[in-house]
Amino acid sequence: MRETLAALIKLQEIDAKLRTLELSKGDLPQKINALEAELLELEATVKDRQQRIATAQAEMRALNAEVDTLREKLKRYQSQLYQVKTNKEYDAITLELETTESAINQHEYNVLELEDQEKALQTELAELIPQLEEQRNVLSENRRQLDEMLAKTHEQEHELFSRRHEITSGLSRPIFSTYERIRHGRSGVAVAFLKDGACNQCSSRIPPQRGLEIRMMNRLFLCEVCGRIMLWDPERE
Ligand SMILES: [Zn+2]
Repeated sequence: MRETLAALIKLQEIDAKLRTLELSKGDLPQKINALEAELLELEATVKDRQQRIATAQAEMRALNAEVDTLREKLKRYQSQLYQVKTNKEYDAITLELETTESAINQHEYNVLELEDQEKALQTELAELIPQLEEQRNVLSENRRQLDEMLAKTHEQEHELFSRRHEITSGLSRPIFSTYERIRHGRSGVAVAFLKDGACNQCSSRIPPQRGLEIRMMNRLFLCEVCGRIMLWDPERE
């Protein structure tokens, strides 16, 4: 029995290491997910600004072409004005002239507005592009760290699992299933140690007579409060 209990101490140590390895991975994948989401959002913003710039530029080109056409028209009306014969004709051409001039003014005003819009968008884009680069760098650095860590932990995990298997194959089935049941129910810690007359996991007092029995390491005792396997290790006392 003493050997079995000593094996449980080793098993607990291995499980604690495996748990630490699992926890060390825990944070980075989540961090990478968050960074990826931020990057997608940033990329969408950049794409949106680029599209809005392209749209503004296309609208400006269309308006400028329209203004050119209207100016041609304006020239024709102006030369027609010198050839009119009647007041009625004069009034009609004057009206066309005024309408065309006002359309040109309106278009030119719209072009100015679009120029302002484009300028603001270009300024925004100039700030977004370096942010995007930075975000991509941070993400790839985190991915590299995760890969490195996974490669390292994979090796350690492999070694720990083979040591674990060596120990568990030497344990009786009831002892092993007791250990596993407590480990799953007690956040990964199935073994508690007697320390200064108490359970080192839940701090409940252990009666002196029971303490003596636990020290003998001849039988499996469970802590009456936390239910963990009570063991004694002189180095931990
Ligand atoms: Zn306890």
